[in-house]
Amino acid sequence: MLTPDLIEKFAAIVGAKHALTSKADIAPHLLEPRGKFSGHSSLVLQPGNTEEISAILKLANETNTAIVPQGGNTGLVGGQMPAGEIVLSLSRMNRVRNLDTADNCMTLEAGVTLHNAQEAASAKGLIFPLWIASQGTCQIGGNLATNAGGINVLAYGNTRDLCLGLEVVLASGEIWNGLTSLRKDNTGYDLKHLFIGCEGTLGVITAATMKLLPAPLDRATVFAAIASPVEALELLSLVRRMSGGAIVAFEIMPRSGVEMSIKHGGCRDPLEAPADWYVLFELAGFDTEGDMNAKATGILEVAFEEGLVSDATIAASTQAAQDLWRIREAMSEVQRLEGGSIKHDVSVPVSKVPAFLDEATALVEKMLPGCRPVPFGHIGDGNIHFNVSQPVDEDKDAFLAKWQEVSAAVHDTVRKYDGSISAEHGIGTLKRDELAATTQPVEMTIMRGIKQLLDPNGILNPGKVL
Ligand code: ZN
Repeated sequence: MLTPDLIEKFAAIVGAKHALTSKADIAPHLLEPRGKFSGHSSLVLQPGNTEEISAILKLANETNTAIVPQGGNTGLVGGQMPAGEIVLSLSRMNRVRNLDTADNCMTLEAGVTLHNAQEAASAKGLIFPLWIASQGTCQIGGNLATNAGGINVLAYGNTRDLCLGLEVVLASGEIWNGLTSLRKDNTGYDLKHLFIGCEGTLGVITAATMKLLPAPLDRATVFAAIASPVEALELLSLVRRMSGGAIVAFEIMPRSGVEMSIKHGGCRDPLEAPADWYVLFELAGFDTEGDMNAKATGILEVAFEEGLVSDATIAASTQAAQDLWRIREAMSEVQRLEGGSIKHDVSVPVSKVPAFLDEATALVEKMLPGCRPVPFGHIGDGNIHFNVSQPVDEDKDAFLAKWQEVSAAVHDTVRKYDGSISAEHGIGTLKRDELAATTQPVEMTIMRGIKQLLDPNGILNPGKVL
């Protein structure tokens, strides 16, 4: 129970100014932008450094007070939403502690936004290649806690692959300094990987050392019309073969989604005639400027000859490339303007994406007559956002009431194709019960054992993941 006396003790750690108790101040922390998840809480703490977080967790552990860590509050599975717990906001922890061009890494506090992390890298002629739609708002601590994926995973991996070391405050208040720039370190278990993707249930990530890469000198962005996901995969292997490893993104979109981006997202149709499906891909390299466009042209010539592509455009300027990417990036948000949308963040082996899409689409069309499937996303790494918009005339709430039943069926199909029911968004509360019901018992035993070891009193983000 959060008594006034206890609130005062927590507030004393961060200072009254950074302990929010008024409804209006707390409100932004209780609703995520998409509006699917809401929470309640009577205290938001905004610590300014790791020592304050340590003191908060020590007090929380001693008093059995539960804490929900929160970054940019852009999570899509409810992991950052409090159900009465104290919200621990990382937003004031927003310093770039160090950027080292010899070791090619930077150490960031958890509250640095992904956009600011990218800017810090580019100021030194380097890139931090994590690229997700919410990058202006989301924070590096949240990216790590959810092991965020995004558009460049096929080239650079997900957040986990970009992390060298972590600083974490444990439930006891103890600080683990695992910040390292080492590329090779086989001294026992790699503890950072326990905290990456733990969604705040095992510890609070307060800082991280992340990899930096040289900035490509040249890029080409291609938007191509294709007949179906089968052609998308054939084109993917052609691009891989002909680009010499220069491929950094490869996305698929259906006509229905492109139309929504045109209608609501201020995008222009890049090609003259409509096609059933599209691929948007990007090449990046280190040769002379213009070389990537030449490579893309060569690839498209072969793709036309082989009948994989019916029409295509290569962006002629940075602005044109951004306009093409806007079609893809808007695709999630514009669905809101078409009524209810039942969403799935799933992955299957890349080779099985076409068969999965066929089967899952037929399934939802049977379950939800008149629905409008909008499956799109990172076909290059097998991660599809299998979203289904409501029929035009149906009531939104009535449609959304079918979420669980539809998800269960779609996820059964995912498992049939050896896939994952959470590719890049996490488990949160949305998929918690399904995780427990469908994961191998031995995996659940290991996960519960780790939780028990690191958070014996269950104060860290209770009710999430497990
Ligand atoms: Zn995505």
